[in-house]
Amino acid sequence: MKTKITIIIISTMLLLANLTILHSKEVGGIPIFMYHMITDDTPKNPNSEYLYVSPENFDMQLKKMHDSGYKTITFDELSKSIEKDFKLPDKSFIITFDDGYLNNYTEAFPILKKYDYTAYIGITSKVIGDPDIYELEYFNYDQAKEMLESGVIKFTNHTYSHKDLSKLSEEEILFQITKSREDIYNNLGVYTDVLTLPFGYTSQRVQKIIKDEGYKVSMRTTGKIKPVKTKEDLLALYRITITNEHNYNNILDLINSKLK
Ligand SMILES: [Zn+2]
Repeated sequence: MKTKITIIIISTMLLLANLTILHSKEVGGIPIFMYHMITDDTPKNPNSEYLYVSPENFDMQLKKMHDSGYKTITFDELSKSIEKDFKLPDKSFIITFDDGYLNNYTEAFPILKKYDYTAYIGITSKVIGDPDIYELEYFNYDQAKEMLESGVIKFTNHTYSHKDLSKLSEEEILFQITKSREDIYNNLGVYTDVLTLPFGYTSQRVQKIIKDEGYKVSMRTTGKIKPVKTKEDLLALYRITITNEHNYNNILDLINSKLK
C-alpha cells in the first residue's frame, strides 16, 4: 500500500514537472544570449563593461546550461518550429556574439566545443582582420573559416561599418546590409539571411528593407523573450545580454526573469 501511494505521488510530481516545462516553452519562447567579448581584459571604456565576460565565467555559464539540459538550436530550427510537426528540444537556446572579436576565436570557440554547443557570430565586415578605431582586435577570415568548417559557428551579417540603420537613407541602409553580406559570401562562401542590427536600432523603414532583401531573421539587443508564432516574429527577435555578473548560480534566474 505504502509503495502504491509513493508511486502515485511520484507520478503526479513527474506529470506536474512536465506540464511546467511545456507551459514555460509556450509562453516564453527561446532565450537568445548576446555576448560580445570573452576575455580577462579590462574594458577600455567603463561604460562598456557589460560587453566583457571572462573566459572562466563564460565556461561556468555554459556549464550551467549544459547541466540543466539545455541544447543550442539554429535559427532554421527555430523557423521550422512554427510549423506544426517540428518539435524543438524542451530546453532550447541560441548563443550569439556581436562584432567579430578575436577572443571569440581564441577563447569562446574552444569552450563552445567543450559543451558541444553552437553559436552565431555577427560580422561587421569592415573590421574583420583589422583593428578598428577603438583598437580592439578582430578575427580574420582564415580563423572564421576554421570556425565555420568545425560546424560550431555560423555567421550573421552585422552590417558593413556598424552604423545606426534607423538614421540612414535607403541607399545607405542597402549599402550597409549588402556590402557585408557580399564580403561574407566572397570570403566564407555562405550567404546569410540573418541580420544582427547594430546597437539593436531599427525602424519601420529599416524593417521593410530587411524583409525586401530576403532576410529571414533579424535581431535587436535586449528585451523580453517573446514566443515565435509567425515568420514575422523572426524579424523582430530580442536577446538577453549576458554579462560578467552572470554565473553558474544565477544564469537560470536571468532567463526566468526575461520569460515573464
Ligand atoms: Zn555590434
